[in-house]
Amino acid sequence: MSLPGIAIGLHGGCGTLERSLQSEADWQQSREHLALALRAGWRILKAGGRALDAVQAAVVVMEDSPHFNAGHGAALTDKAEHELDASIMDGAALAAGAVCTVRRIRNPVLAARAVLDGGQAVLMSGAAADDFAESQGLAMVAPNYFTTQRRVDALRLLQQRAETGAFVPASEAEKHGTVGAVARDMQGHLAAATSTGGFNNKPSGRVGDSPIIGAGTYAKDGVCAVSCTGQGEIFIRRVAAYDLAARISYGGQALDAAATTLVFDTLASHGIGAGLVALGASGNPVAPFNTLGMARGWITTDGELTVATHLELHPMGPA
Ligand code: ASP
Repeated sequence: MSLPGIAIGLHGGCGTLERSLQSEADWQQSREHLALALRAGWRILKAGGRALDAVQAAVVVMEDSPHFNAGHGAALTDKAEHELDASIMDGAALAAGAVCTVRRIRNPVLAARAVLDGGQAVLMSGAAADDFAESQGLAMVAPNYFTTQRRVDALRLLQQRAETGAFVPASEAEKHGTVGAVARDMQGHLAAATSTGGFNNKPSGRVGDSPIIGAGTYAKDGVCAVSCTGQGEIFIRRVAAYDLAARISYGGQALDAAATTLVFDTLASHGIGAGLVALGASGNPVAPFNTLGMARGWITTDGELTVATHLELHPMGPA
């Protein structure tokens, strides 16, 4: 059945591993988790709920999955700790909330939402943001809740290489990842959310683009909603998420053309891996990336669900 323009898209980071580095069972499970995340958002949209609640629900599922670099399974800093960043934006009111370098909030995107709803700040940082989330009744965890063996191994490898002076450029998968979602609800409102552990071996205290409104996340009704993935420093310098909106609203570009140019020309010109998921005032999500893969998925306006990790798509039928 065709629904009135609701749609959702998500990404699980453009730092996808080479297919041979993980078992088929693991790939299968990460695709299942993408589908679960999409359905969590879709249920809300289908019931007439807000795009803002839908992107939040989708990101929570991906934060809880060990397959993505956000929440449980997040990357480690150079001190082998977790410092998490997240943001959420409501395209209807241009309201936004974000947290950075948090260590104890089980689902950083929920803390970002609490900041948005609180209305007193857009971005809160560090221990004060953790305390704020706790005061709002959000679930808190011990930092090792976020740790998976894969991240410990990746950090050891990167640090060993640095110690021995071996210059082996880190692969996109070793470097980073992130999760994000965009949605449009029955009222035509747009929203976006992003959550990340940053990148493996990042300097302690470093803040990426994901919690910076306009860099890693942006949503404006009638224009677009977008969540980005890739080396955050470049996305901040390029104000990438807002750049997409500006191409559309001031430049008159179509969403697809604007997203393709941003990823393959503007961001790629810095020699980085880059990707995003975005949707516009109408139509379906787009998810361009210039790496060998990007975990991603969408449910189109006709209710069909698709997920993917590398180039080929896995259509999964009606949501
Ligand atoms: N953008 C994230 C950051 O720089 C990482 C990523 O998406 O790969 O923190």
